[in-house]
Amino acid sequence: MFVRVAVNIPTDKAFVYSVPEELEREVTMGKRVLVPLGNRRIAGYILESTGVDDREDIKDIIEVLDKEPLFNEDDLKFYQWASGYYIHQLGRLLGNVLPGGVDIKAKTEKIITLCRDDAADVKLTEKQKKISDFISQHGETPISLLRREFKDPSSVIRSLEKKGVVSISEREVYRRPKRGLDIGADDTGLILNKEQEVALKEITSGIISGKFSPCLLHGVTGSGKTEVYLNAIAETLRLNGGIICLVPEIALTPQLLSRFNRRFKDDEITVLHSGISRSARYDQWRRIQRGEARIVVGARSAIFAPVRNLRLIIVDEEHDTSYKQDDRVRYNARDLAVIRAKLNSAAVVLGSATPGIQTYFNIKEKQYKYLSLPKRVDDKPMPQVEIIDMKDKRDESGGVPIISRPLRNAIQDTLESGKQSLLFLNRRGFNTFLYCLDCGYVFKCLNCSVSMTHHAGAGILRCHYCDFSVKAPPLCPSCQGGRIRSYGVGTEKVTEEVSMLFPQARVERMDSDTTVKKGVHEKLLKALDSGDIDILVGTQMITKGHDFPNVTLVGVISADTSLNIPDFRAAERTFQLITQVSGRSGRGDSPGRVIVQTFNPQHYAIGRAKEHDYYGFYEDEISLRRELDYPPFSRMVNLRISGIKKDRVAEDAAKTGVLARKLSGNEVEVIGPAEAPIARIKGRYRWHILLKGKNIKALHTLARNVAAKTGRDGPDIKVDVDPVNFM
Ligand code: ADP
Ligand code: ZN
Repeated sequence: MFVRVAVNIPTDKAFVYSVPEELEREVTMGKRVLVPLGNRRIAGYILESTGVDDREDIKDIIEVLDKEPLFNEDDLKFYQWASGYYIHQLGRLLGNVLPGGVDIKAKTEKIITLCRDDAADVKLTEKQKKISDFISQHGETPISLLRREFKDPSSVIRSLEKKGVVSISEREVYRRPKRGLDIGADDTGLILNKEQEVALKEITSGIISGKFSPCLLHGVTGSGKTEVYLNAIAETLRLNGGIICLVPEIALTPQLLSRFNRRFKDDEITVLHSGISRSARYDQWRRIQRGEARIVVGARSAIFAPVRNLRLIIVDEEHDTSYKQDDRVRYNARDLAVIRAKLNSAAVVLGSATPGIQTYFNIKEKQYKYLSLPKRVDDKPMPQVEIIDMKDKRDESGGVPIISRPLRNAIQDTLESGKQSLLFLNRRGFNTFLYCLDCGYVFKCLNCSVSMTHHAGAGILRCHYCDFSVKAPPLCPSCQGGRIRSYGVGTEKVTEEVSMLFPQARVERMDSDTTVKKGVHEKLLKALDSGDIDILVGTQMITKGHDFPNVTLVGVISADTSLNIPDFRAAERTFQLITQVSGRSGRGDSPGRVIVQTFNPQHYAIGRAKEHDYYGFYEDEISLRRELDYPPFSRMVNLRISGIKKDRVAEDAAKTGVLARKLSGNEVEVIGPAEAPIARIKGRYRWHILLKGKNIKALHTLARNVAAKTGRDGPDIKVDVDPVNFM
């Protein structure tokens, strides 16, 4: 018997191995096996059994690592699709998205059962009798329980077994991820309003139809989308179907998770994300593959979960960029959700208050179902958004205040009425950078071509790309001068400023610096929920799906941080950010207020966000994209070339560019090579070449052919299909 095995090494082919007779019964598609490769032993995945013409040089499988497969044929079809589309070897894809590691095994425990009812008739010793009585009361009894109840029960159990009173078997135990804190009100299920009913009915009919049924659930923030998801999931369970629900950055949404946990039983739901241990992930994966856990809630990689009888996929906040994975295997889980639903003839619900331009375009072009929740629950008004033109707020010396007068007054009013404020800035740290007033020296990272961020509290400069940090020096390393100045504003500085302006207020900061320690993030949310925080300053972490009724003011410190990035989606991002963060305000009984500070008050992304006008924004944006032939009117593939030698990388990029142009034909436009906006990260110099065209097949072919030149002596080329990050 021979099998094809996908291994996690950079090669396109699957390898063929022979199966020793004693392992034949264990070999099934979807299991991991240990195989020899060169002089190494590595883990691979069994794809199929196969015949061979020539059995010479074919090596034996060493060991079968799993008792049960980790995926089935349908799953494999999907994995193969993803591998082809994103131009990643199947073995590499599987190695990255499946749980594993050669060392991970199922955990079992011994179970003792009584095997005769007439145990009482055997004359047992005192101790034996006690234990057998205990087992008879408990039924299947784990040995761990007996160990807790009795001193050294092993020998007694062995003699009971010998006497034929009990039998010992093994049972698998699942390692589970820890449950998070419960945050928010109890969730018992609500009576849906009319719009929710309509949406649910449409989704349900899609699920029942057993056909591919894609839809967009476009609902303003607080319109009750989550409530619709929960009901759709319940309907799917009634039909014995399986569900995948993707949520962005799961660690940031404990409130949403606890809503799921409270609505569904522990034994039908599982949560997958990068924070859980490898062994727990492995166990939960098999619970899913066995059809025991039918609801999988997770971050992007949960799209690969081997859910049985998959009938419904939900992508919450579908516009969120965290669905795109940018390292190792580059894929977009939102797009894969649609593909997987298609392959499984399932329903897929993309939900958002600010659908991606691409998604809304698809809905119109391909006539996917469009479901809308245009109003907040209970007709709560949308918050009123005011735009502050910071050009008018300069002082005599041209300086710009961090908190403008109108925002300051609004915070004051909010404090006085006993409500809470959120202040949002997409940049952590104290100052953006330090420079020398005398010679102009800027403190840059040694490994990355970016300036280091000043973290005043810790007294350090830190690189936000590689995490390298140094003590903030008192003197300029270049001219030894002592006049070091700071520039720019981060969340840390905003927090300091706010504490100074409002000394009586309880101010906290939530960003990736303050929440490194486990549990801090949840604690901050809990404190906000219980009213122990008056003002919370934070990065986009505070924009995600939280629901706090006492938050009535949201301040956007600078809308320009996201507007000024060199990316054709900058306007889209800015519109989404302002809308999402605004949506945190006024969810309770008092109306909400949003104040946006910007130097670009006339920009359409800001104007449309002020009016809560998604359709208007879409029209503005789509006509620009059409004019410039940007996605969705074209497709893109980015080739990233990187290396540690500066000149060599530039040379590689130039050569690759020439090759790409030679092979490009007339359907693909080759743009570049150009140095990446961040020219160096973690010591690697970076260039990219953008391929653009309408025909995805032509793009794929070109990317594949160019990437094939990557190798030991050739350039290091990474392919990014449908790129999201151009930095
Ligand atoms: P979204 O996901 O669109 O932001 P949620 O589903 O979180 O909205 O709903 C916002 C708030 O309204 C939540 O507190 C939720 O419990 C409540 N809610 C949702 N649907 C209803 C309903 N039909 N009746 C009453 N309250 C509801
Ligand atoms: Zn760095």
